[in-house]
Amino acid sequence: MIISTVGSHSALQILHGAKQEGLRTKVYCLKGKESLYRRYLVTKNIVSLDSYEDLLDVKPESDEIFIPHGTIIATLDEKALEIPIPIFGNRKGLLWEMKREKNLQLLQDAAIRTPKSMDYENINQPSIVKFPGAKGGEGYFLCSSKEEFERKISNLLNLGKISKKDVAEAQIQEYIVGVTMYPHYFYSIIYDRVEMLGIDRRYETNVDALGRISQEKMNINPSYKVVGNQPLIIRESLLPEILDYGDRLLESSKRLFSPGLIGPYCIELALTAEEMVAFEFTSRIVAGTSLYISGSPYSNFLFNEEMSMARRIAREIKMAMGQRRLEEFLT
Ligand code: ADP
Repeated sequence: MIISTVGSHSALQILHGAKQEGLRTKVYCLKGKESLYRRYLVTKNIVSLDSYEDLLDVKPESDEIFIPHGTIIATLDEKALEIPIPIFGNRKGLLWEMKREKNLQLLQDAAIRTPKSMDYENINQPSIVKFPGAKGGEGYFLCSSKEEFERKISNLLNLGKISKKDVAEAQIQEYIVGVTMYPHYFYSIIYDRVEMLGIDRRYETNVDALGRISQEKMNINPSYKVVGNQPLIIRESLLPEILDYGDRLLESSKRLFSPGLIGPYCIELALTAEEMVAFEFTSRIVAGTSLYISGSPYSNFLFNEEMSMARRIAREIKMAMGQRRLEEFLT
């Protein structure tokens, strides 16, 4: 069995976890990026690509399984669904993740609280404006009234940063003043259970820098570009709700895109003093899982050994092979 992925995002973890479970590894890498994977000794099998689109033409080996991650979603968009290698997980989940309306639909179907959406005419509270296809919150802006929205939009249009189409498709949401956290779930078909293996928070620039200065006289627009991740444990009394969110999302996914989520997924949350609000879900491994190569407190409760998300994936694949059930995991 050979586990492959694309060289970026969480590839080091994915290849390392596969090796820990005794599986072979392979990485598809943009030309010039190969040395990282050589230096960290996670694979000897490096395939160079001129562009991510070349992934759509690769000839997979007969026993190859591909682990999708955020880079293929960000770079290939819907074409990611056409990668010609069997992937671990449900391809339909990737589509539900990519499409902002579908993403919210799944969360809402699971009765998970999401930020209120509004029309620009009704903006009456701090709101965040999101444009289609924005990656890592790039180009989002905040506003508190219709006038401020119009002023900022016309500014962005004048600068050529957005198009009229972007404006028509912009999503305006209530701004959640909360602390963010990203629980990492894994749905095991073998054990028929949802395992919550760890939690991280993203370290986003410049928004995570704004608390360090007085903003009174400065007019700084926050940006949400992720540059890293920090570990987090949650107050134990909040844990049942985090677990419940994961269970409910899985049940809704089974209804909306059967057979539903398989393996790793995540819910992007902001917690206020009163509630847990979800911005988004992801249907695959998130980069914050790489904090826990040696396991997290939560994975330790379950496994008592060093269980990263990637190793968990590899373990499930091995168990599925042992039970001759691999086809239930691959799409
Ligand atoms: P992406 O799809 O690029 O990950 P998200 O929609 O998840 O973008 O948003 C990126 C970041 O923007 C989030 O991690 C969060 O910090 C912030 N954010 C998004 N929506 C809201 C909201 N409604 N209220 C407050 N912050 C938000």
